[in-house]
Amino acid sequence: MQASLIAVLAGFASLGVLAAGAFGVITAALQGANGAILASAESVREAEEAAIDLLVHARSRDALVRMDHERRLASHLVDADRLLATQEEHAAAHEAVDAVGEYLLASRMGAPGIEERLERAYAAVGALVDVNIAHARAARASAARWQRIANVAGISLALTLVLASGVLGWWLKTRALRPVLELSDALARFGGGDPLVRAREVGPEEVARMARDFNRMADALARQRQGQAAFLASVAHDLRNPISALKLTAAAVPPGGPLPPEVRMRRAFEVVRRQATKLERMLNDLLDTARIEAGEVEMRVERVDLRELVRAALELFEGTSPGHRLVSEVPDHPVPVYCDPLRIEQVLANLLSNAIKYSPAGGEVRATLRVASGEAVIQVADQGIGISERDRATIFEPFRRTGSLRSAVAGTGLGLYVVRRLVEAHAGSVAVASLEGTGTIFTVRLPLAHDAPRLASENESAAPAAP
Ligand code: ADP
Repeated sequence: MQASLIAVLAGFASLGVLAAGAFGVITAALQGANGAILASAESVREAEEAAIDLLVHARSRDALVRMDHERRLASHLVDADRLLATQEEHAAAHEAVDAVGEYLLASRMGAPGIEERLERAYAAVGALVDVNIAHARAARASAARWQRIANVAGISLALTLVLASGVLGWWLKTRALRPVLELSDALARFGGGDPLVRAREVGPEEVARMARDFNRMADALARQRQGQAAFLASVAHDLRNPISALKLTAAAVPPGGPLPPEVRMRRAFEVVRRQATKLERMLNDLLDTARIEAGEVEMRVERVDLRELVRAALELFEGTSPGHRLVSEVPDHPVPVYCDPLRIEQVLANLLSNAIKYSPAGGEVRATLRVASGEAVIQVADQGIGISERDRATIFEPFRRTGSLRSAVAGTGLGLYVVRRLVEAHAGSVAVASLEGTGTIFTVRLPLAHDAPRLASENESAAPAAP
């Protein structure tokens, strides 16, 4: 739209410049014609005064009066000549000056043939008047011509402006404003509670882009809503499992009946403990998500050696799954970061628990810590089912449960979302690399404490190979 708008404005500006130029030329021509008419009129007046002086001079016998009229005659003829513009007029003026000069000389000398010379002088002055009048007529005709040109130019300009305004109005209505109105209507309907409404991606580029952005946002919200619905269903489902297990376990001890033997009692309590832990984790994930969404995550930041957190997180899972071999790899120097240790432990616990959950065939789960480019880099690698490329794009979004094991493995689809938000709250980042059927590596990067000693080589501990 910007380009079209600039083109329209440039068109109007060129039209304005053209009109100003044309009217400048017309005004100059009209002024010229006007000036020529005025000069001719003035010259005619001078020539007629000269004719009167000539007449008075010829009639008068008083030497003083004659002298005075001789002087005025000369002055009128000189003035008339000064006002003239064309060769023809100058020639007529010179002829008049010569004829009058000859008459005056003859009259001063008392020479014969004064009457003829007077006649000639009259005729020459009359011819000068005629030439002047002819010139004035020509100037008037030219002025009239320019006037007509000005009228035609003015009407053409007015018509062009009306046409251009009409085209501009039509363009604004159909190309610029209608898409804007449509978009605003779509926004209003969406805001009014119609989640299915989408804007047409038409019109000028900027408006089409806004419509595209709106549609993307509406799609994302729709996806999120679907995710939330699926999430509620999965939470209900996941809550039902441990609750059913708890009810079944409780049913093994009938009210009022004898207590089962100790071995069965111990097994039942073990089931209760496991299911309660599961419920607790789910509730913690839900609570964390609610707090993160509300921006209420409280951080108790302190200087921590990350090696301790990695070791502690691994210890938590030791012995929980006999099919998995847990390995840690940490450098032999401290890796200090400023962080909330409980939150980073939670991040590691989520990643380790996923690594175990999503490698049902067992295998190695390796937690590696190293320092690279001024950052602490933690990697959690497994040899599990992997994550498809399509799923990798969305697993950090809330309520995203993906992969073939999603119904077989308990979860809320919130763990990785919590991980990402907690790591980002520490000014860090988290990324995933994976090969389906081979394994997955999650990489968490955290800024090193600014007072951490610089190492000769920061890449001391090698990263595990990509799966
Ligand atoms: P949950 O585990 O509760 O489903 P998460 O947010 O922790 O939710 O993980 C989201 C999805 O990412 C999981 O449903 C799973 O499909 C996939 N995923 C996470 N970690 C792994 C992993 N280590 N290996 C394979 N898939 C994984």
